[in-house]
Amino acid sequence: MTTELILAPSATAPRGLAVHTRGLVHVYRGEGRDVAALAGVDLSVRAGEMIGLLGPSGAGKSTLLSLLAGLFRPTAGTVVVGDLDLTKATASELDTLHATDVSLMLQGAARNVLPFLTAAQNIEFAQVAAQRAERAGDLPGTPTLLGMVGLSDLGDEPLDRLTPGQLQLATLAVVLSTRPGLLLADEPTSRLDHEARDRVLAALARVNRELGTTVVVVTHDRDVARWMPRTVTIRDGRIGGEGRSGEEYAVVTADGFLPLPAHALEVLPPGTLVRLELEDGEYRLRVERDQS
Ligand code: ADP
Ligand code: MG
Repeated sequence: MTTELILAPSATAPRGLAVHTRGLVHVYRGEGRDVAALAGVDLSVRAGEMIGLLGPSGAGKSTLLSLLAGLFRPTAGTVVVGDLDLTKATASELDTLHATDVSLMLQGAARNVLPFLTAAQNIEFAQVAAQRAERAGDLPGTPTLLGMVGLSDLGDEPLDRLTPGQLQLATLAVVLSTRPGLLLADEPTSRLDHEARDRVLAALARVNRELGTTVVVVTHDRDVARWMPRTVTIRDGRIGGEGRSGEEYAVVTADGFLPLPAHALEVLPPGTLVRLELEDGEYRLRVERDQS
């Protein structure tokens, strides 16, 4: 049984947005060659949850994150963020979504900010579009944002003079400045040393905890998973498994498949016959050893 704790949000705290995808398929159409990046992803993230999206390079993580951000439309399936179905949203609904509700940190900090400006100037710049979307007054001030990421002293330093770790923290302050309910970060710790990595992850955890923002972090680094209460592993464009507090689980898909984790495939190679047996109220997997 789970108990939901409902906290009264403060006047300035954003409400975390829930995310649901159903049957999400994405095919990149190329010249003579199509790439199926996602092959049916059903993912639900609760409002205010923080999850890590794991998986090897090429698994489809960045494609999934882009679809959650509404950057382009999927080939099939639905993406619902809050109560907006992104696959049916109008251009102006998507503009508002990007200006205020969803922030995407692309891989490579410098792609998200203007590196020759300071953090304070970048925040000011990012807030212009949000203010146009009638959210002025609600937006957090620069000192609050810099304090949240632990960069209070560096707000007036041009970003290109910061260390890679500081730059990533400044980027986080900038993407938070529009008060998003959903924060999506693609490999935010790649190319950082361990100390800088832990600082960025601690800042993301703090944002999740104190602001209630829903946070989805893409990473290929299994060490990062330690910071995540929940992990979802993407393999070949599908959900390949889930982790809860370090325990790995396989996930039954909506169409009844059960993708086995890599370590299980070592002992249960393709073609193995298995039977699910109910015994004392528990399911057990019985393996047919004599396969002739
Ligand atoms: P990940 O982020 O897990 O490394 P991606 O979502 O970037 O995976 O890529 C998934 C698959 O889609 C890969 O085979 C990749 O080569 C392909 N892909 C990604 N972006 C494009 C694109 N713009 N055009 C064609 N294929 C792409
Ligand atoms: Mg990627």
